[in-house]
Amino acid sequence: AVEIHDAHKWFGAHHVLAGISLAVPAGEVAVILGPSGSGKSTLLRAINHLEKLDVGHVAINGELIGVRRHGDRLKELPERAILAQRARIGFVFQNFNLFPHLTVLDNVTAAPVATGRLSRAEAAEFARALLTRVGLADKINSYPRQLSGGQQQRVAIARALALRPGVILFDEPTSALDPELVGDVLAVIRDLASSGTTLVIVTHEIGFAREVADLVVFLDEGRIVEQGPPSEVLDNPRHPRTREFLSKVL
Ligand code: ATP
Ligand code: MG
Repeated sequence: AVEIHDAHKWFGAHHVLAGISLAVPAGEVAVILGPSGSGKSTLLRAINHLEKLDVGHVAINGELIGVRRHGDRLKELPERAILAQRARIGFVFQNFNLFPHLTVLDNVTAAPVATGRLSRAEAAEFARALLTRVGLADKINSYPRQLSGGQQQRVAIARALALRPGVILFDEPTSALDPELVGDVLAVIRDLASSGTTLVIVTHEIGFAREVADLVVFLDEGRIVEQGPPSEVLDNPRHPRTREFLSKVL
């Protein structure tokens, strides 16, 4: 489970996260929607401590992320401990962020080998299975530049899975893709969703959200305006701000 408790973040005077509390039970899928600048990426980045909260905290399966309790205060963990936690949280970015100088196979094996989790041979075997799962078994020796955007994003998903993460965070995974490539990436995410992986997905793909989300969260100006199952938030939004947003993106 991912639990966010009263998260606040300021950039200067700008209150970008203004008290967000959210719980995503293990195995469930949360989709975060909201206008540009509403704080979606900042919230996602706060989950794996790429962004440090000013107030509040995040816990995954009961474990505080990036901090530990120190009396009644929270103290930041040493960098090594943060990196170790982050390795158990998958993160898939809008722009793939693959290592350009490594083959597809090496992109997927790099982290498990570097962290000593798997031997090179074990990592390669697991990577082949993951790349087969995302439909790229025939591309293992290619370099990222030789792949389409949709293929690169599927490699990025395989790379995230290589660390057997307890949760995977997606920040607009299809928004940089040509329309005809979106479907293949969504199919891979749908497969993860139905396999019981905990997912938190920022996306503007409303149809996809309706299909895979257990929980839809609508964010505006750093606050949760409305949250609930898709049948409520997407099909019967209560808040005028949610209705206005949906009328624009649908
Ligand atoms: P988009 O849909 O455009 O990706 P978003 O909902 O992901 O938007 P965020 O990237 O979380 O929005 O940004 C929320 C606000 O915080 C924006 O006003 C942004 O300009 C601001 N912001 C984000 N990162 C920083 C930073 N490092 N320094 C200063 N301001 C920032
Ligand atoms: Mg964003």
